[in-house]
Amino acid sequence: MTTSSREIHLASRPVGWPTAENFRTVTVDLDEPGPGQVLVRNTWMSVDPYMRGRMNDAKSYVPPFALDAPLEGGAVGEVVASGDESVPVGATVLHGQGWREHALLPASAVRVVDADRVPASSFLGVLGMPGLTAYVGLTRIAQLREGDRVLVSGAAGAVGSAVGQIARLLGASEVVGSAGSAEKVAWLTEELGFDAAVNYKDGPVRTLLAPHGPFDVYFDNVGGEHLEAAISLLDDFGRIAACGAIAQYNDTEAAPGPRNMSMFVTKRLTMRGFIVGEHPDAVREFHERAGQWVADGRLTSRETVVEGLDHAVDAFLDLMRGANTGKMLVRL
Ligand code: NDP
Repeated sequence: MTTSSREIHLASRPVGWPTAENFRTVTVDLDEPGPGQVLVRNTWMSVDPYMRGRMNDAKSYVPPFALDAPLEGGAVGEVVASGDESVPVGATVLHGQGWREHALLPASAVRVVDADRVPASSFLGVLGMPGLTAYVGLTRIAQLREGDRVLVSGAAGAVGSAVGQIARLLGASEVVGSAGSAEKVAWLTEELGFDAAVNYKDGPVRTLLAPHGPFDVYFDNVGGEHLEAAISLLDDFGRIAACGAIAQYNDTEAAPGPRNMSMFVTKRLTMRGFIVGEHPDAVREFHERAGQWVADGRLTSRETVVEGLDHAVDAFLDLMRGANTGKMLVRL
């Protein structure tokens, strides 16, 4: 017996901002799982900024998405047929074959998660890759110390909202965020415990952030003008964790670099980029600590949920435009 399933393919490579024409919905018939395989009905899929980079035919830390093939990404689902006794029917699993209603994949490529204590969707957000990114960036890259004053851009997103809260849990004395709307700023300061936050659309971001500096750590999710402002507002020996540069992901021309690079010398600054998947040593530690923080209510999160595979491309485009507060997810 086969299972009919729909999946989203990359039909053409976007130039600049992607449009609906770059994607195509395809119906496929999936076989029963063979020995060592599982068939998963996806219930949640993630849309993430890094996917934009994989739509380009460019050498990077992951290969580009293939044309006329399904996109990939984090997903959570329920095992509906299994050829491997270690992953039984009914198990909730996390895996990398999102952008489709069903996934047929090796049992070794899924991780069984315990969705009884926390919502299954949180394994794509605060307890998943974005939460781990925040933790790795703070602990392994910025090497956060007790008393540090922390600035984070993209602060109301999946990674940024975890950065601010985890920084405080790890002993930061002050946490300041930048985000793209008054509602997001209010969420950060009124619910997440940020000491201050600014709406970067209100004016030059350096001017807006200056009253809240100086900072010891800058967690960069945005790049561009935010990075230049942060370099100016870091204290001597400040550290930058370079996590992302979403302000530039849809650029067709290389953006000019920060104009204040000489401050790296005068202020003895450090900046280090990282890829979350290259820090397996942090995974267990993160799950133990973050699992406890979530259970205690000390690490909270929000999700922006879009319904159905038919709107998955819209969800991705809306993420790039900032329509999400917290983690952007598609419920399948
Ligand atoms: P978010 O949930 O933060 O969503 C993206 C957000 O970016 C939007 O909500 C929007 O919020 C903001 N944004 C979009 N355009 C701009 C702009 N021009 N200037 C400032 N902000 C902008 O996504 P994630 O939390 O998943 O990812 C955050 C960053 O972390 C990204 O850069 C991503 O690539 C990076 N990342 C890096 C990883 C790594 O291993 N290095 C792993 C995971 C993520 P707003 O309304 O505030 O503009």
